[in-house]
Amino acid sequence: MEIDGLDKYLEASQIAKKIMKYGRELVKKETGYLKIASSIEEETKKLGAKPAFPVNISVNGIAAHDTPELNDTREVKPTDLVKVDFGAMIEGFCIDTAFSYSPNNAHAKLIEAAEMALQNALSVVKAGVSTKAIGKEIETTIKQYGYLPVENLCGHSLEEYNLHAGVEIPNVERGGHILKEGEVFAIEPFASTGAGRVNDGDYCQIWSLNPQSNLNVRLPKSRELLGTVAESYMTMPFAARWIKNQSMLFLSLRDLEKQGALESYPVLKEAKKDAFVSQAETTLIVEENGAKILV
Ligand code: MN
Ligand code: MN
Repeated sequence: MEIDGLDKYLEASQIAKKIMKYGRELVKKETGYLKIASSIEEETKKLGAKPAFPVNISVNGIAAHDTPELNDTREVKPTDLVKVDFGAMIEGFCIDTAFSYSPNNAHAKLIEAAEMALQNALSVVKAGVSTKAIGKEIETTIKQYGYLPVENLCGHSLEEYNLHAGVEIPNVERGGHILKEGEVFAIEPFASTGAGRVNDGDYCQIWSLNPQSNLNVRLPKSRELLGTVAESYMTMPFAARWIKNQSMLFLSLRDLEKQGALESYPVLKEAKKDAFVSQAETTLIVEENGAKILV
């Protein structure tokens, strides 16, 4: 079985495992969102990969897509539930993975629910299995813990320079794609104490180039930014804080978004106020009789 980019995936896998270890140690010592995210991104580069997307530090009812801004001053509190989601990329081939933690262990059971859902999902992955069967494992496991899976967040297929390559792995019993040998997927159960649904929030720090857009942009500032983005990140997500020239940055980002040249990724918040959400995530290659788990 030939897999596109297999050697790159395996290289990224070794690095992602090291970053996972590094990240889990780091969060015991550091509380600043910015310090945690930027240290993991630096470590990724030091190990020879690129961050596939900005490190997400999503806390409590924020399920995903929160990354620190340039002068972010937020600190993790002892009672928080934190999701750290990161990616390691080698020449366009990406590993996408995440872990959850709560400094004072207040959310241990909720975290265990997501982790166990991931383990149970992985135990049924092999060629010929439907994504619906995987979603069922996740849903059943999380409900057994007394929580709800987040139904509008999904795992996903991965392809070269494409984090969300079209096929979804639902967190509930739904869908009908049949897994094929050699396909690469991220599976990411989210367990929630709330409604089991997320909505877009107002805060947005993550963007990506829309590959379908043309690059004819009128405003010089916007044109310059689009050129920088295309050259530095291609179609991969980037953080506003990664852009060197910060002058009028958000005006340009919004201008480019309005023209369809950029996609925005606002934070995703639990629909119910004061809910907590946990996440576990790994990336794998489907095999004839199982899966090669990459993190
Ligand atoms: Mn992820
Ligand atoms: Mn993912």
